[in-house]
Amino acid sequence: MRVLLVEDDVQLREALHQALQSAGYSVDAVADGRMADTTLLAGAYDAIVLDLGLPQLDGIEVLRRLRARSDSTPVLILSARDGIEQRVQGLKVGADDYLTKPFALPELEARIGALIRRASGGQIRLSNGPLELDMTHREVLLDGKPIDISAREMSILEALMQRLGQVVIKTRLAQQISDWDSEVGSNAVEVYVHRLRKKLEPHGFVIRTIHGLGYLLERHGEA
Ligand code: CA
Repeated sequence: MRVLLVEDDVQLREALHQALQSAGYSVDAVADGRMADTTLLAGAYDAIVLDLGLPQLDGIEVLRRLRARSDSTPVLILSARDGIEQRVQGLKVGADDYLTKPFALPELEARIGALIRRASGGQIRLSNGPLELDMTHREVLLDGKPIDISAREMSILEALMQRLGQVVIKTRLAQQISDWDSEVGSNAVEVYVHRLRKKLEPHGFVIRTIHGLGYLLERHGEA
């Protein structure tokens, strides 16, 4: 799950970036409206956290342009406590939800989870036999119990589970785990797949390598 974070306040941006990353999202962060607009033209995100008071281009305008392109990516706007008018305007031009600063990080995470869940038609769990991926709480369960898994391993597993029994190309997996802080090569994908195998193979799950293409997670019990 990829989130674009648009916030010009350095401290807040860094805190949010870190919180979202630890919640299991791949995060790209930008500091002004023009960068946000350019970034959104180029890439696909599962959710956008958008501050309204931004240099270059304000958040309302970024949102207006996004919706004018018929892009329905869920948007959570961040506004100042006294910014009622701005907030109303944001909702009018197509924001899905808002948070008033200051807010608690768990609330931000919960709201983003809810937005993504709504956008995906309410599908919050992917499952393969006794293995379940809970998209809302960002956890992986085996026989109903959470297993120890890193955010990037989870992203890879998510991509594989979304196309269960089908090949997921390696570059797609690399995209899934990359953000601007760390350009991810195909070697990294191999590393994370290796770690996933170590965790899942003892439980009867098979991740097959399709040479020259990518990986495939077999349906449980069909191996
Ligand atoms: Ca601001």
